[in-house]
Amino acid sequence: MYQIIDGKRISQEIKDELREKAAALKAQGVERCLAVVQVGSDPASGVYVNNKKKACEYVGIRSLSYQLPEETTQEELLALMRELNGREDVNGILVQLPLPDHIDQDLVLTAIAPEKDVDGFHPVNVGNLSIGRPGYVSCTPAGVIQLLKRSGIEIEGKECVVLGRSNIVGKPMAMLLLRENGTVTVCHSRTKNLKEITRRADILVVAVGKPQFVDGDFIKEGAVVIDVGIHRNQEGKLCGDVDFHSVAPHVSAITPVPGGVGPMTIAMLMANCVQGV
Ligand code: NAP
Repeated sequence: MYQIIDGKRISQEIKDELREKAAALKAQGVERCLAVVQVGSDPASGVYVNNKKKACEYVGIRSLSYQLPEETTQEELLALMRELNGREDVNGILVQLPLPDHIDQDLVLTAIAPEKDVDGFHPVNVGNLSIGRPGYVSCTPAGVIQLLKRSGIEIEGKECVVLGRSNIVGKPMAMLLLRENGTVTVCHSRTKNLKEITRRADILVVAVGKPQFVDGDFIKEGAVVIDVGIHRNQEGKLCGDVDFHSVAPHVSAITPVPGGVGPMTIAMLMANCVQGV
């Protein structure tokens, strides 16, 4: 029988702890404030932004909302970053991605002051993570570490395989598992003999961006499987990068989709806002 790693419950637990911390800070006269910037009106981005604002409200973080039109120029957005960087009452800045094509995403993310970069995407924070210095860490992989720790799953000394090497999930995930003393292998689209490598994993983190890509054949008996993927299948139902029904009989623990990694991303964003670095 396998354990279901319950991201809904764990993310709620984290938000409740943060709510207490935010209240204690408020009692000392410190209010946390997150500026959320959205350019254009992509419906999916709108849903994410709303969920972030709701989480701020729950935890007790003030949120400022900037909903800018699609035609916003790069210079206008950079000017807003400069303004928010300079505001003492704002301690976190989040730019919802993707940005429209005429805006250079990297340029905008790099314009956020590293000490306000609660998404952990700034090169300074990425660098700090890789050399083991304190800094903001990308929320989704940070959430995976919390899922493992709060489910009593030891990382130290384990064979950890990360499937995917994106800048926001795969790479920081690998660095975090390494920081926790796992033995880490990263796989990507050019990896040869993929299943041979994934079958070595005690902990397999899948962030491949392909619906139900990983089946039972990829899994060592008794492994822990974390599914970062999120997709809608042909029936309109949410599914992950892992074929849950094929994989679950082989594992000791697994995250479901929905209700696994998904809710952790916002919880860790809230953690970054409340706790700082
Ligand atoms: P991404 O940028 O598309 O990266 C996918 C990675 O998978 C790349 O490194 C790619 O390799 C690798 N890959 C693709 N096909 C492969 C194959 N056939 N064999 C081996 N590796 C392969 O995706 P992402 O942004 O990391 O996101 C991954 C998934 O997580 C997506 O489903 C996304 O929706 C989801 N996600 C969820 C959350 C959340 O909050 N739950 C947050 C972020 C992302 P190359 O580098 O060689 O191209």
